[in-house]
Amino acid sequence: MSKQSTRSKPSAGTPSARKQSRARQAISSTAVNRSSGDQRPQDALVEQGVHEERGAYDERESLVNDRRRGTKYDITPKVEEVAAIHGFMNDLDCKMLDPAVVGVECVESAEAFYSQHVRLWLDRDPVLAKAEVRDTGGGLHTILWLDEPILVAAGEARIWNDIARGICNALPGDPDLNGLIALTRPVAAMNTKYNPPREVRQLRLGEPVSRAEILNLSRLVAEQPARLWMQLFFGGERAEPCPFCSKESLGVAGYWQVRCYQCGRANAASLVYRFYSPDFLDSRKENHHG
Ligand SMILES: [Zn+2]
Repeated sequence: MSKQSTRSKPSAGTPSARKQSRARQAISSTAVNRSSGDQRPQDALVEQGVHEERGAYDERESLVNDRRRGTKYDITPKVEEVAAIHGFMNDLDCKMLDPAVVGVECVESAEAFYSQHVRLWLDRDPVLAKAEVRDTGGGLHTILWLDEPILVAAGEARIWNDIARGICNALPGDPDLNGLIALTRPVAAMNTKYNPPREVRQLRLGEPVSRAEILNLSRLVAEQPARLWMQLFFGGERAEPCPFCSKESLGVAGYWQVRCYQCGRANAASLVYRFYSPDFLDSRKENHHG
């Protein structure tokens, strides 16, 4: 691939950069329009000829502070502003999945992905089994709601943010998810990223978890990932046949490693990476180098 063909950032002054700058102005000016209530923000953007990400103004739901609902622009606090945590979420996006591993149907339908894979994974861990699951249109949000909010002392938000991100590593979710300040979509809200829009549906009710359960899960992901992933994806410490060679069996071989007589030792994280499509993994490499 030549440099020109990759998505390069326009430099200031090019027509494309001016267009982006106009887009930013339009977004801030529509915030004013919205409070005056005379025009829907997306209509305003369309009139000004600005291409805004579809669904950008959809209703979202915060899992922190007063659990506000609104557009992501209105309800996303800074991490340091989080004073109360009500839940921890993960975002499993169907677009990121490898159809060769999960099946074509699961790349096209979040509900199929849930019933054929995610439901089983959650059921195999006592804490994850309590997650609520929402089909957001193009993927699944799993939410561990707390029985009582965790009150965040001054300076502790970063620690809880790391815990929120760490817990996400249990499942093949969006690696760029925003930790504590990630937003879900309310049940019955419309996801207008799609045409026609898709309604957010609850697939699993879930039940509350305690602060101690969250910390246990966090510890398991950090200290025993090989065991946890083998348990979630294969229901025990051994998978037969091995998911990589389909011949021998694969087993836990240390905190961070799995081993198969055919494949040898492998980093246990490969148990999670195998669910992502090659295109998705390539796009992440490009982003990280450029
Ligand atoms: Zn193998």
